[in-house]
Amino acid sequence: MDDRFGIDNIKRFLADNPAGCDYLTGLANRRGLYSFCEELGDGAKLTAMYIDIDNFKRINDIYGHSRGDEFLVKVSEYIGKYVPGFVARIGGDEFVVLMDGDMDREEVAHIADELIKNMAGIQMRQDILSLVSMSIGIAMDQVYNGTPDDILSHCDSAMYTSKDGGKGTFTFYNEQDKTLSLARNIERNMKQGLADREFEVLFQPKVNMVTSEIVGAEALSRWIHGTDIYFPDTYIPVFERNGFISKLDMYIFEEACRLKSGWRDTIFGNLVISVNLSRAHIYEKDLPDRLCAIADRYGIPYEELELEVTESIFVKDSNELIAMTEKLQSRGFLVSIDDFGSGFSALNLLKDLKVDTVKLAKEFLGKSSNTMRGRQVIRSIISMCRDLKINVVTEGVENREQVDFLIGCSCQVAQGYYYSRPLENDDFIRYASKHKSNILGAYHFDLSSPDLASEDGSIRMIYSGDRVIFKEGIFKGSRSVSFPGGEIERNLLELEPRAISNDSFTIAFWLYPEELATWASAIYVKFETGFASFSPLAWEGHASYRIRDSREVNGWYDTTTCYLDKGLWWHVVMTYNSYTEMARIYINGDPIAQSENVPTNRFVKRIMIGGDVFQPSIKARICELMIYNDPKDFDFIRDLYESYVNNPEFVGGKQRHLI
Ligand code: C2E
Ligand code: CA
Ligand code: CA
Repeated sequence: MDDRFGIDNIKRFLADNPAGCDYLTGLANRRGLYSFCEELGDGAKLTAMYIDIDNFKRINDIYGHSRGDEFLVKVSEYIGKYVPGFVARIGGDEFVVLMDGDMDREEVAHIADELIKNMAGIQMRQDILSLVSMSIGIAMDQVYNGTPDDILSHCDSAMYTSKDGGKGTFTFYNEQDKTLSLARNIERNMKQGLADREFEVLFQPKVNMVTSEIVGAEALSRWIHGTDIYFPDTYIPVFERNGFISKLDMYIFEEACRLKSGWRDTIFGNLVISVNLSRAHIYEKDLPDRLCAIADRYGIPYEELELEVTESIFVKDSNELIAMTEKLQSRGFLVSIDDFGSGFSALNLLKDLKVDTVKLAKEFLGKSSNTMRGRQVIRSIISMCRDLKINVVTEGVENREQVDFLIGCSCQVAQGYYYSRPLENDDFIRYASKHKSNILGAYHFDLSSPDLASEDGSIRMIYSGDRVIFKEGIFKGSRSVSFPGGEIERNLLELEPRAISNDSFTIAFWLYPEELATWASAIYVKFETGFASFSPLAWEGHASYRIRDSREVNGWYDTTTCYLDKGLWWHVVMTYNSYTEMARIYINGDPIAQSENVPTNRFVKRIMIGGDVFQPSIKARICELMIYNDPKDFDFIRDLYESYVNNPEFVGGKQRHLI
């Protein structure tokens, strides 16, 4: 037994080194630790243990600093009692123990185990003790070589392995040699790597699942070092520990701005790009200024840049984070919570923290979406975010079932392999060009006056009948076209076919059925390859959105909706998305039904309102017809509906909500 680690020698050492003593606990401080090692001399063999108190900050937060200090004193005594060696407090809640280098592994493991298990024996209130635990890292067979830095970094990284493994555990350094040598390699090469521009930015699209349109992208880093590609999982944790992450994040932010500035003249030039922000930044007062300076250099508006901060930061440094978030937002940047639901969700924080977006963690979707309860939780979180006007993006969407489930929960934006992996700039440009719609025609026909053209005057309508009859519309004093019924292709309006010039479309209108006749169409679009129509009365009294593909004998696709009473105004919206081959119908702002695998019809030949080419014409009133050349999403359609019913002039009568 090396008596330099004995109690008498340690007492003597502390008495000789007052500057090496910690004022609070009477243990050695960091300086004392260095002096003690120096006394041991080069070549001394040591066993080192790194002890970190998990969640110590919560004691301070909940019970105040004097209780926190009291706890640290008690814990110091406790550690001193259990371990046969030199103990130093080298940070707020971090302790290092140096012991005889000849101890065997069993013995050390036993000590660590006892330390973790017996914390309840500390003389403190149990409610305080129940908050905390210990994570321990142990390095055996260490040799002092003039500085304890290597030894400390070994047991420190073993301690982090314990923390990652779920806290309240201990880990031996040699058990994680492999990851460590990689980590050392990474540390050795990181500075040069950054200087040599070895870090590359990939972009992963964020996609609106309803319209299939790209609505944003996340910048993710890769490290191309010689012939190796390192993924973020290997280097980000290392950089977070040694502080290099700040440099990397700024570099990635700048690279993302630089690449984005190259998209300026494309149709996705204004796409919002998000960049990850590590916790290291939130204490940097000048961060907003630095980000602005970079964005300015590349001429990127701040509104097109979003910063993703992970949920775990919110739990630990919530006040700082709220302050930083407000500062960033006041400049115009967007802020999102990343990996929401992966750890201790700080649901509470959503009260104080007005983030723009919440990103649901992929782990969450994976495990939880398999059970009823899990699904209910996801659904409720999405619904809560919508109430708070926070956007929701779900990460890690990999298959069609997840898409359907999320759409069913009214989450519209996804980021995941189902749509695309992270892409290099060139591939991203190809993807975005394909999935960003051009400025597509939208036409508004109020149908209230003899001039039946679209509001912008560009599209006209012709009436095939004696004369158009107008009756009351949905607004005070407004009018609607009243279709009197009649033979096939009589008493209906015919619209210039170029009003629909895209494979995907949205048709919205107000309908007041006056008499219900089976299969009479309110709207009928004839394509070269089939048709799409809406009949207020079809299957067993229910309304139907029907698409016919005449290229196939059995090509009938019906989306049956609810029952529409006559003598009431209904807001009807039909959408078709040629990318997902999905037809959807909405009544009074709510998505009512959808059909999958509906083939895309091409080339509109005729558009009729009030009848079709097969059936007698309809008896109904129609007004406020909107035609869009893209498949609008839930939010858009609900907002459209609400813009009518919240209009003080709205007299559309009783509104029945269907969901
Ligand atoms: P993250 O911010 O949660 O980024 C999303 C990660 O999920 C990415 O991993 C992405 O490739 C992956 N992912 C996307 N879709 C799917 C899917 O459908 N299935 C599965 N299984 N995974 C999917 P990646 O690129 O390996 O990045 C890992 C993490 O590293 C990121 O997680 C982010 O937290 C961090 N990171 C990456 N680059 C940076 C950076 O420049 N700075 C900082 N601070 N962190 C970064
Ligand atoms: Ca992220
Ligand atoms: Ca994430």
